[in-house]
Amino acid sequence: MRCDILTLFPAAVESYLAVGVLGKAAISGVLVPRVLDLRRWAGNRYGQVDDAPFGGGAGMVLMAPVVVRAVREVVQAQGLPSRIVIPDPRGRRFDDRLARELAGSPALVLVCGRYEGFDERVFELLPAEVISIGDYILAGGELAALVILEATARHLPGVVGDPDSVAEDSFTSGLLDYPVYTRPREFEGLAVPEVLLSGDHAAVRRWRREQALARTRRWRPDLLAPGTGTGEPEQ
Ligand code: SAM
Repeated sequence: MRCDILTLFPAAVESYLAVGVLGKAAISGVLVPRVLDLRRWAGNRYGQVDDAPFGGGAGMVLMAPVVVRAVREVVQAQGLPSRIVIPDPRGRRFDDRLARELAGSPALVLVCGRYEGFDERVFELLPAEVISIGDYILAGGELAALVILEATARHLPGVVGDPDSVAEDSFTSGLLDYPVYTRPREFEGLAVPEVLLSGDHAAVRRWRREQALARTRRWRPDLLAPGTGTGEPEQ
């Protein structure tokens, strides 16, 4: 998957892209990320990308010609059926279903806002998907873009070493994940459940399934509601 990220803070994005799952995905070539400074498309030699809002008010607004030119050029350079994503608090709420959907695209363009956000004409002129990562306000779209990209990249083949790990993750299976333990066998009076030490793989599988269901019932009963598409009807 090609992924171009447009931002005013390339260094912040690049440092995160270099580590962990995203770093490995880039090294293996499954993900081809590129971080581009929006100032490259600035309208004047001072690198201006924002201006005061018409009508007055606080903060600065990212200029439509800068953003629209940048995105169009990047999409053309990708030469693929790209999905343009603008992280913004008003957008469709991001979740694992949307991450899997985005993972099916050969190319993404993620456009990070700052300050008061984008001139409204950006949303009118670009065929973009507007995605929110939650009902709160971040200072910029960089963290949101990285959240979207990391959750999406986990669904690309080969990115997470053991595919079972992704299949069993919370939400992917339609349930929350089961509890996990490692050494020591006992800590502060709490012992690892016997079944995990039994060597009986069928019993371990059964126990994990029951635990995943019990956890989901307790913490996220909404995931079990009919019509959520989890495939795990309440019994
Ligand atoms: N004035 C805007 C509002 O009230 O909706 C907020 C602008 S915010 C300070 C600057 C940028 O951060 C936005 O353009 C967007 O790219 C990003 N951002 C902030 N919160 C976000 C969220 N919950 N989800 C996705 N992106 C967000």
